[in-house]
Amino acid sequence: MKILVINSGSSSLKYQLRQMPEARVLLNAAVERIGLEDSRLTLQWRDAAGDSRHRTREAPVADHRAALAQVDAALREAGMEPAVDAADIIAHRVVHGGESFQGPVLIDDQVMAAIRATCRLAPLHNPANLAGIELCREAFARVPQVAVFDTAFHYSLPPQAYRYAVPADWFHQHGVRRYGFHGMSHASVLRQTAAYLNRPPASFNLISLHLGNGASAAAIRAGRCVDTSMGLTPLEGLVMGTRSGDIDPAILFHMAREADLELPQLEAALNRQSGLKGLCGSNDVREIQRSATTGDAAARLALEIYCYRIKKYVGAYTAVLGKVDVLAFTAGVGENSASVRAQVCGSLESLGIVLDQKKNDSDATDVREIQSARVKILVVPADEAGEIARQAFACVSATTTV
Ligand code: ADP
Repeated sequence: MKILVINSGSSSLKYQLRQMPEARVLLNAAVERIGLEDSRLTLQWRDAAGDSRHRTREAPVADHRAALAQVDAALREAGMEPAVDAADIIAHRVVHGGESFQGPVLIDDQVMAAIRATCRLAPLHNPANLAGIELCREAFARVPQVAVFDTAFHYSLPPQAYRYAVPADWFHQHGVRRYGFHGMSHASVLRQTAAYLNRPPASFNLISLHLGNGASAAAIRAGRCVDTSMGLTPLEGLVMGTRSGDIDPAILFHMAREADLELPQLEAALNRQSGLKGLCGSNDVREIQRSATTGDAAARLALEIYCYRIKKYVGAYTAVLGKVDVLAFTAGVGENSASVRAQVCGSLESLGIVLDQKKNDSDATDVREIQSARVKILVVPADEAGEIARQAFACVSATTTV
């Protein structure tokens, strides 16, 4: 069985075909900068001899429908069957499932209506996810389609973790609570950690750190998420590439009065002009590290603030969990930056968290352990699309055997 995983963003369409049940990648395609003059298509696959092949094309792609057609055309040119013809199931990533979804679901009209209703909670993400689903339901009506939600992994949060101390009707009438995001990534870290340790998820406690352009932490007790750093939206928590993470909410009132800023300007400032970019002008950790080593004080401070915030969450989640068995790093920065890992873990000996410097500096790409004290510190390759494929596969298998 083959599953096509679709991640439809506001200006991108990512597309992966996986062979199940092992979730082996058969092909990878992405169209980025949709709607602009310099849209870019990239395609990677393995040919009959098993060799890795790729092609790229830069040409304007007007919308998501055109993007899907472009991928098909590129596949045919490469002598391959379009993935949608080969796919037995299409799995869609949906960022926000609100309070309606605690796991993957087969998509029908009722599910579409429920996803549409959550757009008010995630106006920056869900409309684009929904557009991708609508397009595929129309174009590939014969193929079962499954929605997999980034918030679902955090459905297990207890009320003391998900409620904010704000007027109760904000929660009851307006859905104001912590939902959490990056669920596919944290679920994949949990799955890979259990496989690596050869222990069931219920037998250990884990702090998972997803450090990419977006960043979040999750506290996972015996296989269930009990707290996470992102909130009503992905803006809360850790310092990110361009998002502020935690701030005093009164900063918004202050800036509205002080600089006469309107809501859309404040929203843009916190989502797109803050975080590492706001602190030092770049949101690319590799570039910031290079600048820091050449004496750029703003870059150095930005990295210190970034790591300090992560360390605070590690401390807080150690208190939440009581006992931590594993601290896991994943995503672009988490997997690749030995110096960020070292800065985060520095001076945490009293929590049993100590890095082995030599192991930390290794650039192996599989799951690997890098600690020299009680708490296992793992580096885990991010595999969100693999997690989506596995969850969709389990959902369809369960539905068809009932
Ligand atoms: P996204 O959230 O967009 O999927 P990624 O998980 O790819 O992002 O992470 C992107 C971040 O990872 C960027 O800040 C990039 O600089 C950083 N990164 C990638 N490789 C390295 C590296 N070798 N050292 C430090 N940072 C890295």
